[in-house]
Amino acid sequence: MPYVELSVPRRRWIADLAEAAFAEAGGVIPVQPAPLIDEHGITFSSGDYGTAFDGMLEHRAKRFHIYCNIRDADYPGSTRARFTVGHELGHFFIDEHRNALASGRAEAHRSFIDNGSNSIVEAEANTFASHFLMPQQAFRKAVLKERPGLRGLLNVSSTFSTSAQATAIRYVEECQIPCAAMMFRPGKRPWPAISPALKKLGYDYGIAPEASALPEGFAAKRAYDAQATTGLSEIFEAPSTATFWFDRVSPSSPRNCVIVEQAVRLSQFGVLALLLFPKLP
Ligand SMILES: [Zn+2]
Repeated sequence: MPYVELSVPRRRWIADLAEAAFAEAGGVIPVQPAPLIDEHGITFSSGDYGTAFDGMLEHRAKRFHIYCNIRDADYPGSTRARFTVGHELGHFFIDEHRNALASGRAEAHRSFIDNGSNSIVEAEANTFASHFLMPQQAFRKAVLKERPGLRGLLNVSSTFSTSAQATAIRYVEECQIPCAAMMFRPGKRPWPAISPALKKLGYDYGIAPEASALPEGFAAKRAYDAQATTGLSEIFEAPSTATFWFDRVSPSSPRNCVIVEQAVRLSQFGVLALLLFPKLP
């Protein structure tokens, strides 16, 4: 995450496919995938498979089987496990992916979900998972019920039983306000997700150093230092400037402005920051 740039029609096609699967699963929030898996004759197992994969879709003796890896602090039905199941269902429901397995061209597909940015196939399955777990209409409604900000985003993630990270990507896509999320993961480059409203205003390229290297006083730095080992830390907030977070927005640019930075520590998964812009012209 976030996703490699799929073409708009392809994204829409996959989103529609996922939302049809959501309706088929009963159309309730949070979505319960088990009956859908059964109905399609897919068998399922979860367990600690080490670092072999996050999830895997296997085709053997004309049957499909989903494996869901629940290593470390994970458990069946955790937000992470739910995303993995949604991702594997994506490989099943997207014709090209399923047919590649069924034809024997590939025996099994091993998924590494955080590497979605490197592979179209993985990005497509992530897009499916995202819309299967957080269908657009219900998601927009849930976002509108909340005040804009990280607290609201986390409330929405509880409603849909999705991880803060996966929710942040959908939140930024769907909310009407100019905002951006920045996800800091241990030892990896932070990734930005930028709302369409903000992109339209020319804030295209988010940048950030690793959370550990952020200046003192930044909300993300304070969240990083909070070192919550289980669950979420409190939400930290600080004023910030657009120039710090966006390449091509110089300090003297008319697009540089004071913004609000909110951040939370997501136990061992890193720090999620949300950047809220004032109403821009
Ligand atoms: Zn995959």
